[in-house]
Amino acid sequence: MQTFQPPRRILMGPGPSDVSPRVLGALARPTIGHLDPAFQALMEEIKGALQRLFNAPDHACVPLPAPGTAGMEAAIMNLLEPGDRAVIAVNGAFGGRMADMAGRAGATVVTVDHDWGQPVDPARVEAALAEAPTKVLAFVHAETSTGARSDAASLCAVARRHGALSVVDCVTSLGGIVVDVAGWDADVVYSGTQKCLSAPPGLSPIALSKRAQAAISGRKEKVRNWLLDFNLLRSYWGGEGGRTYHHTAPINALYGLHEALVAIFEEGQQAAIVRHARMHEALVAGLEAAGLKMLVAEPHRLPQLNTVLVPEGVDEAAARAHVLKTWDLEIGAGLGPLKGKVWRIGLMGASATAWHVRLCLTALCEALAAQGFAADARAALAAVDAKLAA
Ligand SMILES: *Cc1c(COP(=O)(O)O)cnc(C)c1O
Repeated sequence: MQTFQPPRRILMGPGPSDVSPRVLGALARPTIGHLDPAFQALMEEIKGALQRLFNAPDHACVPLPAPGTAGMEAAIMNLLEPGDRAVIAVNGAFGGRMADMAGRAGATVVTVDHDWGQPVDPARVEAALAEAPTKVLAFVHAETSTGARSDAASLCAVARRHGALSVVDCVTSLGGIVVDVAGWDADVVYSGTQKCLSAPPGLSPIALSKRAQAAISGRKEKVRNWLLDFNLLRSYWGGEGGRTYHHTAPINALYGLHEALVAIFEEGQQAAIVRHARMHEALVAGLEAAGLKMLVAEPHRLPQLNTVLVPEGVDEAAARAHVLKTWDLEIGAGLGPLKGKVWRIGLMGASATAWHVRLCLTALCEALAAQGFAADARAALAAVDAKLAA
């Protein structure tokens, strides 16, 4: 074997996003024991920082030791017991994944299906909740498979009106658009480190309301997965009465998350959100000037995930291969019904800069020109400049 040296890449797909040198530096610091007092102080600081990031001062917040999907699995498996009714809004790949998990938990699953690219319709979700008593309403705030943003405040209010616990997937939203757990009165909200937080994949911050915690401690049967069982995790991350061993926290990964959080609060959460919005507007102006069109209608677009329609006659995969080979640039492909029909361009965290926007447009226009599609890179860059000067 030989030391692995990753190629240089610019990450503008659906995640992971570029990780800044300061976070990479933090990851390389010396490993200490997970029960070391210094590490326990770090754990406490991360819990408080996540409460601030989620705006969830009354929620229990911890980073789970696995990627965003672990937050989803923890939410579903801890809240649902066999026979419980769960309403899952599905408007893309991740809503579908939630429905699969809820079925595995033994719940009676009712999906409210939407066309890909549409936001979740609160009225249709409310109709499904009105049909029968429901334990959980789950939906995705920022559907990364399509680039559509749903109205989390309205959907959480629907859950409250019908006595259901809300589960909100904020994997792609946290750090890129407003996530307001207290304002939404949401129950279980989870995210991931590899999207707008710009730390490597591998951790899943999660927030649980008092209602959710009571539902979990009052379960009739044990949670079916051991690692993510909150009744067990509490003794490790809870801090009351001293910590007891549950698993070994991914120590260096938590150094990385901590540094990513320091960077976000240094910039300011609101400033980071404004930066994502500005870069998105500049990118869209450039794409449109180059003759390209967006999948999602303007009011529902996510700044951090831009779904671009592949023009008639253009080979989607060949264009992605071109930008990777020529520019070391990664952009994403379409999933499910959007396979071959869209590119997904991420402007997440450290990848949401004017430099990234210009690089991506230059590279994509070159890839299109190579296939005979007239994409005017000069016009695209001029549109970006005009947007950023405004
Ligand atoms: C990326 C993503 C996930 C899964 O996160 P992983 O880190 O890939 O496990 C879940 N939901 C949404 C909306 C995502 O974008």
